Amino acid sequence: MRGAVLHAPGDIRVEERADPVIVEPTDAVIRVTAACICGSDLWPYRGIEKPRLPRHMGHEYVGVVEEIGSDVRAVRVGDFVVGSFFASDNTCEICRAGYQSRCVHAVSMGSIGTQAERARIPMADGTLVATPGVPDPRLVPSLLAASDVLGTGWFAAVAAEAGPGKTVAVVGDGAVGLLGVLAARHLGAERVIAMSRHGDRQALARDFGATDIVTERGDDGVAAVKELTGGLGAHSVIEAVGTQESMMQAIRSTRAGGHVGYVGVAHDVALPGDELFFSGVHLHGGPAPVRRFLPELIELIIAGAIDPGRVFDLTLPLDDAADGYRAMDERRAIKVLLTP
Ligand SMILES: [Zn+2]
Repeated sequence: MRGAVLHAPGDIRVEERADPVIVEPTDAVIRVTAACICGSDLWPYRGIEKPRLPRHMGHEYVGVVEEIGSDVRAVRVGDFVVGSFFASDNTCEICRAGYQSRCVHAVSMGSIGTQAERARIPMADGTLVATPGVPDPRLVPSLLAASDVLGTGWFAAVAAEAGPGKTVAVVGDGAVGLLGVLAARHLGAERVIAMSRHGDRQALARDFGATDIVTERGDDGVAAVKELTGGLGAHSVIEAVGTQESMMQAIRSTRAGGHVGYVGVAHDVALPGDELFFSGVHLHGGPAPVRRFLPELIELIIAGAIDPGRVFDLTLPLDDAADGYRAMDERRAIKVLLTP
């Protein structure tokens, strides 16, 4: 089969890779019908993260089950499935508490690489959720979004305790931040402040339910959020970038007693203890337990209640993955969908 491989920073190639096979009786093999490029894929692409190379790329996927191991019960051959970017057993104590991305048996799908024609899915029963029947092709981008960006934005909004009567600020206007706006609004937030300097992203944020746009960054962005919230800061802040600047912007934009939901993969973030102490804010985040939210998100998408697939503004054949990486790296595309 063909799949994307990172050979060196900036050097993505789509080449022949070994066909996946059932290794454990709990595995499934799926034919990937759509995959995509994540903001987090840009960290190794830019050479900021240094994984062992060459590395198979991709952790977001939807597809059709082609083969199952002898212990798989919940999905069948032919099912259309959406899975999380972490495989999980969904039965251990951590999973049952709703933190499947930290499952005691968690397997990062990034270690498998789903920007490919096929993928092995470990712990298929715990990882995959089948849709009722084969979905309308128009819903596929939204279902694919549920695999990571939507699930991650949703978790960020839940972790930030977005809800009725709350003002939510969102730091980061990538796909996760934009879907954090959608999630916050869906969870009932009264006011959603999107922080973005890009016209097209601001427009999508508004479509997803943002009520206010702040274009300033850093301490100026914090001051703008404070001004919009009577000097107090937001009740809930979503951090969807992962840098020192964005994390401090999120914490400083939150009122005392408020909540920060942080989901941008942290890179060299160091929190000053004294400032954290006196801020009085709650911090919760990490790799989103997408599997917790998948059944509900799939239902909302199929019912037409949410349309998160709009974050994909470029669709390319898998063979052109390198162009997709370039487009996202240069911020010409918000998010790139790859079709095998
Ligand atoms: Zn588990």
